[in-house]
Amino acid sequence: MTIELRSDTFTKPTPAMLEIMFSATVGDDVFEDDPTVKELEEKTAQIFGYEAGLFCTSGTMTNQIAINVHVRQGDEVICDALSHIYLYEGGGIAANSLASVNLLQGNRGRLTAEQIVEAIQPDNIHHPITRLVSLENTVNKGGGAYYDLSEIQKIKQVCLENNLPLHLDGARIFNALVETKESPLEYGKAFDSMSICLSKGLGTPIGSVLLGTKTFIKQARRVRKRLGGGWRQAGYLAAAGIYALDNNVNRLVQDHARAREIGKIMEQLPEVEEIYPVDTNIVIFRLNDKILSSDYVQKLHEKGIKAATFGKHLVRFVTHLDFTDEHLEEFRNKIIK
Ligand SMILES: *Cc1c(COP(=O)(O)O)cnc(C)c1O
Repeated sequence: MTIELRSDTFTKPTPAMLEIMFSATVGDDVFEDDPTVKELEEKTAQIFGYEAGLFCTSGTMTNQIAINVHVRQGDEVICDALSHIYLYEGGGIAANSLASVNLLQGNRGRLTAEQIVEAIQPDNIHHPITRLVSLENTVNKGGGAYYDLSEIQKIKQVCLENNLPLHLDGARIFNALVETKESPLEYGKAFDSMSICLSKGLGTPIGSVLLGTKTFIKQARRVRKRLGGGWRQAGYLAAAGIYALDNNVNRLVQDHARAREIGKIMEQLPEVEEIYPVDTNIVIFRLNDKILSSDYVQKLHEKGIKAATFGKHLVRFVTHLDFTDEHLEEFRNKIIK
């Protein structure tokens, strides 16, 4: 048995999800004529209290479209140095939007309102114009750390006072919400745009949804087309998203419980120097400086456990829908032996 813990994107659709996909009613989404895509967009928008949604291929695409709509050439985006939008989107802020970044050092990728106030550029021709603040929740590179809504509301206040839109990279927002029990509607109010991934913990084969006002989504649809992201009978994929929102959100707590167990197992190993607090479904640990993460990941692989390197001495495990209690027991046996 191989144990897949490289990412929560490795999940495969269940028979029930596939069945729903097979029977979807579809149309041409470029013509806004796919009823299942519309249903997914409306459903996601309603959950977070937004006017409209746009179904896209990936979270990179929803983030990059949002940034492109919010900023202009030469503007600055404030985000944490660990942000996915900065580290893992191929330099897209620069390449797609000709914009600059102001990278802040947060606490495991989480920023405070005070840090953002400090970072906003004064109105002076030497500086780029601060045009957007982007937060990530949960923070992938921060080991699945999540925000308190109260801090986000303070950040929102700063943004309002400075006339700045606030974007959320909510690739794993449901992982945060099942922990905090905060309401998605309250959450949605704090942001001007949100990106939500369906292909991570929610277990669909593909897809993310961008949320915003009707005007924002109309502009986003144009950018999506320009990037080559206009698609046709995408309803087959949207059907999986609808199924996932109905069935796979509350179960995320199980992924978190199993991740915490993994944390406890790894903690006992002499080569593990430090484990980030396991807040959601991500476990990041640091090996002692004599061991390279690439060598360690190779050794795990030989034992039948797949992990991701996350820095020279950092290794990441991510739990997900296809990682069950049986897998956890098998993991324990493989690691302890
Ligand atoms: C996975 C992820 C994304 C989107 O990734 P895609 O592979 O493009 O769907 C965005 N932000 C974060 C924090 C992620 O973990």
